[in-house]
Amino acid sequence: MNSKIGQGTRAVWAGEEGYLLGATQVPVVLSAAFGYRDMDEWLNVATGKAEGHIYTRNSNPTIAVFEEKARLLEDAEAATSAASGMGIISSPLFALLASGDRVVSVKDTYGGTSAIFNEYMPKYRIDAVQCDTADHDQIEAEIAKGCNLLYLETPTNPTTTIIDIARLSKVAHAQGAVVVVDNTAATPINQNPLQLGADVVVHSATKFLGGHADALGGVACGPKHLIDQIHHYREIHGAVLDPMSAYLLLRGMKTLDLRVKRQNESALRIAQFLESHPAVEPVFYPGLESHAGHAIARQQMKGFGGILSFLLKENSLDAVGRFIPHLRFAHAAGNLGAVETIVAPPATSSHVECTPEERAWLGIPEGLIRYSTGIEDVEDLIDDLASALKGL
Ligand SMILES: *Cc1c(COP(=O)(O)O)cnc(C)c1O
Repeated sequence: MNSKIGQGTRAVWAGEEGYLLGATQVPVVLSAAFGYRDMDEWLNVATGKAEGHIYTRNSNPTIAVFEEKARLLEDAEAATSAASGMGIISSPLFALLASGDRVVSVKDTYGGTSAIFNEYMPKYRIDAVQCDTADHDQIEAEIAKGCNLLYLETPTNPTTTIIDIARLSKVAHAQGAVVVVDNTAATPINQNPLQLGADVVVHSATKFLGGHADALGGVACGPKHLIDQIHHYREIHGAVLDPMSAYLLLRGMKTLDLRVKRQNESALRIAQFLESHPAVEPVFYPGLESHAGHAIARQQMKGFGGILSFLLKENSLDAVGRFIPHLRFAHAAGNLGAVETIVAPPATSSHVECTPEERAWLGIPEGLIRYSTGIEDVEDLIDDLASALKGL
């Protein structure tokens, strides 16, 4: 699509072209395989000389539309998908790295991603270093010691720490490293890591892209030579997106721009409300001037996102347990990025695998609450929070 075409238009139209029998909506093609009577044609498609589909683990028409929409939202050369965010995050790590390589990342990566660094990379003799998330000097120093892949996530979950993608991409490229960024929390509406210098952007489409918390999926976007390697690994390890899920994610993505803009606005108002509330301190939201990463966020983000976190002054899991049940318009669940508001303490969600000591080491207090703003009326959400805080 030509570069003048906006994200709202892309969300609706990208990848959507003339379908079967004039259908205006993408058909859900549930076929495992695609048949050919002409052996030459079959051979050409099977060997990649002609366009077409052979078997859904390799490619599928509905999944291809999902990949195309994500590709155009990130303005990338190519895209591939997987059955979940973790399916796509693990793919570049296993496809692009080899024994003896070194990965530099940060402590605050998504829990599953950290598990790959800590449990699996060592088995393959791949050195994975997780630096203090906001310590750019330490990250640069680790990159300088040797780096094949720099893996970043910004804003992080649940503390919304901001990492300077452009600054670190430059340093990593000087070492010949590939830069991968998890853009799940920001969404392509608020942040485009490829334009900031990253090589590959990954998303858990389960979250904001789908937006309705009813389908799992993942997508990676970047240059064709890297996406081809990631796609090939995906074909072989087999964590393939289901065509029905691809359809649900596509349907959700059409309203991505609308939803995210509303979530940006509401999250800022909620963060400001909480920051002024006597029972809460501090509030972490990149859109607040008090946020340590606010200046970098202003440079690299177009909006500050729908996720914030805050600490009840009575810093304990017990206080969280008394607060959350009073919220009327919020699911208490281990998910984020949906049309409904979702709250969760890290101890039962993003950092459930950690001991309280490990959470303390990561700088995650027990009384912290992650708040993923939905698309409800913001006045109702603020009233809801106010009355739950009164009940403490
Ligand atoms: C949820 C999430 C993932 C993992 O995605 P799944 O679809 O659950 O596999 C990865 N990164 C971030 C930032 C997430 O929020």
